[in-house]
Order: sequence, then C-alpha cells, then structure tokens
Amino acid sequence: MSPSTANWPCPACAELIPSASQSCPHCRMPADWVDLLRALDFVIRRFLLWKLEGAISAAQYRAVVEASGEHLDQLLRMAQEGQPVPADAGLPPRCSCWSCELTCHPSARYCPDCSAPLDTAEVRLLRYQQFLIGEVRRQQQVGRLNEAEVMRVLTDAPERLSELRDRLDRGRFLISSR
Ligand SMILES: [Zn+2]
Ligand SMILES: [Zn+2]
Repeated sequence: MSPSTANWPCPACAELIPSASQSCPHCRMPADWVDLLRALDFVIRRFLLWKLEGAISAAQYRAVVEASGEHLDQLLRMAQEGQPVPADAGLPPRCSCWSCELTCHPSARYCPDCSAPLDTAEVRLLRYQQFLIGEVRRQQQVGRLNEAEVMRVLTDAPERLSELRDRLDRGRFLISSR
C-alpha cells in the first residue's frame, strides 16, 4: 500500500483519516494543511529509505529528521492557529492541473481544459514527488547534504516523474475517449 492511499493518522489529533476524505473529520484540520503535512511525512519516509539503502549516512538522516520535525511542529502550530498554508511551502497546489497548470475548482475531479484527472492518489504522488525534490534541494542549501549525495538520492527522480505523468496521461485518454 502506498503512503498516499493508506489511512493516515491526522497530524493534529492522531485519528485515522480515510484516504477519500479531504479535511480531518475528527478535528476539522483543513484539507490543504492535511495535504502539506502528509507531503512532509512522505519526505521523511523517503529519507528513511535512503538511509536504509546507504545513500545517506545515519548522522545525516538524524539531522534531516530533526530539522523536519521542527518544521512540522512549526507548521502544526500555524495550522492550529487557523493560519493559511504558506504560499512558499513548496507543494504544488492541489487545485492547479498537473498537466496544463490551469487553476481548477477545489472540488473538480477533472481539469475542464485538458480533462486530466485531479486529486487522485497518483496525482498526489506526483505532487509529493515534486515536493520531495524541492525538500532535498532545501537540505542541500542549508548544508545537510552535499552535491554528490543530492545526485545519489535524486538519480531516478526525473524518471519517476515522467513515469507518473505517462500513467496519468493514459488515464486521461481513457476518460476523454469515453
Ligand atoms: Zn484531526
Ligand atoms: Zn489541465
């Protein structure tokens, strides 16, 4: 089961949120916040995998996790204070089409312009993957990873992105030929 489709504990109240629901039905954490905190969780899991694969050292992993934990706490405080998701969070917005970048209605299921599916588990994975690349670059900028390590962990990133886009493209053609 991929982390984007599994039930996932709400970052604020720790109740399980079903994958289909948008905001937390228990504590009313808004959907955009749940989304961003999930993306950060996705990133931390990826760093754990890279540590297990030996791409980064245990010390680097600890440094990244510690910093990400602080970042998460800070975001959680903002969410609980009712602040909006910061625009520079690095996560592509849920309502903008991954294919043509049109800003769609938050409840739209398909892009009205290019009929690409929106807000499916795979689209989420694509957005989280893009967010992950940004987070790796951020860790590099603050000196927690060097260029060689960034190259190592991101070797297959472009391939993963294009694979996901291909899969999503096929989904669109099926829908528009109906
Ligand atoms: Zn909650
Ligand atoms: Zn579109």
